[in-house]
Amino acid sequence: MGSILVTGGAGYIGSHTVRVLLAQGAQVVVLDSLVTGHKEAVPAEVPFYLGDICDAGLVKTIVESQEVEAVIHFAARSLVGESMAKPDLYFYENTAKTNLFVSNLLQLGVNKIVFSSTAAVYGLPETVPISEESPTSPINPYGLSKLMIEASFHWLEKAYGLKWVALRYFNAAGASLDGSIGEEHLPETHLIPLVLKAALGQRDAIQVFGTDYNTLDGTCIRDYIHVLDLAEAHVLALKALDQQSNSGVYNVGTGQGYSVLQVITSAKKVTGIDIPVVEVARRSGDPDVLIAKVAKIEKTFGLKTRYSDLETIIASAWRWHQNNPDGYKSKS
Ligand code: UDP
Repeated sequence: MGSILVTGGAGYIGSHTVRVLLAQGAQVVVLDSLVTGHKEAVPAEVPFYLGDICDAGLVKTIVESQEVEAVIHFAARSLVGESMAKPDLYFYENTAKTNLFVSNLLQLGVNKIVFSSTAAVYGLPETVPISEESPTSPINPYGLSKLMIEASFHWLEKAYGLKWVALRYFNAAGASLDGSIGEEHLPETHLIPLVLKAALGQRDAIQVFGTDYNTLDGTCIRDYIHVLDLAEAHVLALKALDQQSNSGVYNVGTGQGYSVLQVITSAKKVTGIDIPVVEVARRSGDPDVLIAKVAKIEKTFGLKTRYSDLETIIASAWRWHQNNPDGYKSKS
């Protein structure tokens, strides 16, 4: 049995996936540039390579010395706002580099890849829940940078027999159950970490972006999936890759949505803190409701989410924030 190369294994979702792989007895090797990842998030026993996915020499060394048989590719930029300001950066970092990386992998004889995609490929959906057949029409460069790779994989499959799964993440959330690794983005823009930073007193209040959406309480509804369930989805996808017919795109969510106010109410309950809330204007580009249709991944890979109820998500994230109020020690 060869090893699994995890690019971006020092990042939020990557580091949780590395742990799930190890727990299942896989041999794992990490390649990360540490531009946004944190070395401390990678267990000491995992071979770690500092570098870039487009460094062909380094990729060759890793593949050959570690006998890599498949890749889970997380390494990417993932801030929507940054992608609006610097679209060229996203098309280079996420699209061009991945294209080169996968081309090198194929030349080295590695033809199995699980790829981090995003619900941002759908843009503003016409109907919810969103199925994989829904039209793709991203409204930001981040979503497009990922969609272009999905489309390229279709052709690489035909030409070279690439076996691939692109997982379209909805809202990843939560932390490891022991609170030792978790979510840290610089700058932080996501709802759950920001609510918990307000609970810790690191921010004055949580801002609610818009209360006039077409939802029950007027705030946006999202499909939050626990990062451990998301990690499990990658491992299941990897196992299913031997069958070429499984190649394709898959939503990863729970099929259930929570509003911004429901998240805040749950955070107040879990933390026991009356977190100050301020209602402000809408943030641009936020659809009212984003909920995944998850039948495809459940049926094909047998994914059953175990940790994605709101309370477990928030309790695990709270443990991480309390244990690490300043986040990771190494600031990348
Ligand atoms: N949100 C909010 N206040 C914040 C951050 C986010 O009200 O400080 C809302 C945001 O408008 C969206 C939801 O929370 O409706 C989830 O946002 P997040 O940035 O976590 O994820 P996204 O759905 O944008 O990927």
